[in-house]
Amino acid sequence: MTRLSKQSQVVKPVAEGDRASTVAMEARLLEIPDTLSVKQLADLLQVSAIDVIKQLMRNGIMANINQTINYEAAAAVVTGFGYQAHLKAQASRKSASLIREIKKQQRQQGKELAGLKPRPPVVTVMGHVDHGKTRLLDAIRQTNVMDSEAGGITQHIGAYQVEVNGQKITFLDTPGHVAFTAMRARGAQITDIAILVVAADDGVMPQTLEAIDHARAAGVPIVVAINKIDKPEANPEAVKQQLADAGLLIEEWGGDTICVLISAREKVGISELLENLLVVAEMEELKADPAQPAAGVVIEAKMDKTKGPLATVLVHNGTLRSGDTIVVGDTWGRLKAMFNDTGKQVRKAEPASPVEILGLNSVPREGDTLTTVADEHQASALIEKRKKETQALLTPKSVSLSNLFEQVSAGRVKELNIILKTDVQGSIEPIRSSLEQLATDEVKVRVIRSGSGNITESDVMLAAASKGIIIGFTTGSEPGARRLAELEGVSIRHYDVIYNLIDDVNSALKGMLEPSQVEVIEGRGEVRAIFPAGKRQKIAGVYVTEGKISRGASVRVRRHDEIVSESIVSSLKRFKEDVREVATGYECGLGVKDFSEFEVGDILELFRIEETG
Ligand code: GDP
Repeated sequence: MTRLSKQSQVVKPVAEGDRASTVAMEARLLEIPDTLSVKQLADLLQVSAIDVIKQLMRNGIMANINQTINYEAAAAVVTGFGYQAHLKAQASRKSASLIREIKKQQRQQGKELAGLKPRPPVVTVMGHVDHGKTRLLDAIRQTNVMDSEAGGITQHIGAYQVEVNGQKITFLDTPGHVAFTAMRARGAQITDIAILVVAADDGVMPQTLEAIDHARAAGVPIVVAINKIDKPEANPEAVKQQLADAGLLIEEWGGDTICVLISAREKVGISELLENLLVVAEMEELKADPAQPAAGVVIEAKMDKTKGPLATVLVHNGTLRSGDTIVVGDTWGRLKAMFNDTGKQVRKAEPASPVEILGLNSVPREGDTLTTVADEHQASALIEKRKKETQALLTPKSVSLSNLFEQVSAGRVKELNIILKTDVQGSIEPIRSSLEQLATDEVKVRVIRSGSGNITESDVMLAAASKGIIIGFTTGSEPGARRLAELEGVSIRHYDVIYNLIDDVNSALKGMLEPSQVEVIEGRGEVRAIFPAGKRQKIAGVYVTEGKISRGASVRVRRHDEIVSESIVSSLKRFKEDVREVATGYECGLGVKDFSEFEVGDILELFRIEETG
């Protein structure tokens, strides 16, 4: 058995994220959390896990390396190694860091006002495809329908409520982070808690990681549900390890995140999961004032042939009543009728209740806000005001490197959120740490998501919701991502030299970024055939897949991952006629200046260079 000599005692963290645990050098005191794994204890003592297991056995406890032991058991082991155990203060569900963060948020949101009463939490289920999000939402609904009058059948109105131990929980019925982030991008942050579903037979997958990033960027606490534990190949311990690798440390491992093992299919662990949601909700002290006129957010909307415009609204403050005059986005109406998630007509809806409403003059959009007004006159005044505000918002609301300094000076930006995508995983860390070191007194630099591979739509949504920018290092963007970025006004920058990347961000932070040149893709086409034209020249038969191709435009010929030529379009024909432009969905014959070596399958990328201010 290895015993620690005085010299070998070092102040050493137990595990990542568990910074408070240190070995006290002088007093031979050892701080340990109220639960920890055998391995963590061995690391803490700097002995082998076998030695810890032997010591536990001497104390009558059989445990393997990954098993969790409590403070008492750990304390007895520690004594055997010549230490005195000391309970680490912060080791409880109400972790100090989490509480501090929550209190701060509450102060910012002015939640400490009088008249506020506790309200149910609003929960979104996230996770990788096929990990059981929908099944979980169904299982919760089936086991906890509040209103049995409707025969236990709930209506799909975009959200539903359940009752657990006399307390309500509201679930948004659209699982996944895409809807969550789309709402955030529109300024409607309605989720209080995210359930992260991870299948025990599949483990942490790309969308699991995305969901973690999205919830974190929104500052929404995560409760992990390890699902499908009924499957023989289920391996929850491996999932916990993968979560830790992804920086999400569950309580059992000394972190803040609650983790529950469930089977959505067998309805196992559902009530434990729900009770834990209530624990988190209680810590967050979610409050609203039911005495106020209602304010809410549209979570679903459609035109019904017989009923007219229908919208499901989640009330977030106040009480919504039949007969209220409401403005929703840029439409309005008098509330004719309201239905709850069991299809029952209700006369009022309190905070965190979802209701389907009838009476609007037109169909609003998801994410639109609902405000109660006194009368029609006030309604039209408010709509007018909102229209003006929307106009004003259309002028640069998003951050780009070129407008960063201006936004910082105007006090609009205090944090530069970056989404970093690279070709290989290995490039991430050096770039991330160099970027984070660029922080100034005025602006923090935060890499809110990093990963290898192309820039995706999900990256753009996260950037839009977090008012961030996307940086691609020797990687491309998926066509859908580029379109979405244009639509959302998200700035994407591509680099292939680290120095230039860091230099640009640094200059932008200091307001010294030269007007830079950005490339705008005008169109894309695919070479489908090759025709001879003259002695050496060849013409490519091209199908335009995106945007347009114009004569004289700059063009890049891509073959697999390589660029085989960068030149200009020297000739462009449709049916032997010279043309200036060819649009998406059409074919054309195209010549490229000084290039003839086309191959079928080559991709042509038409671009222009623009100066950004
Ligand atoms: P989603 O894409 O995350 O919404 O996943 P679904 O809820 O559609 O589930 C994907 C598949 O996994 C379906 O075939 C479900 O029946 C199955 N599934 C979900 N939960 C469980 C579970 O707890 N155990 C087992 N064995 N299968 C499950």
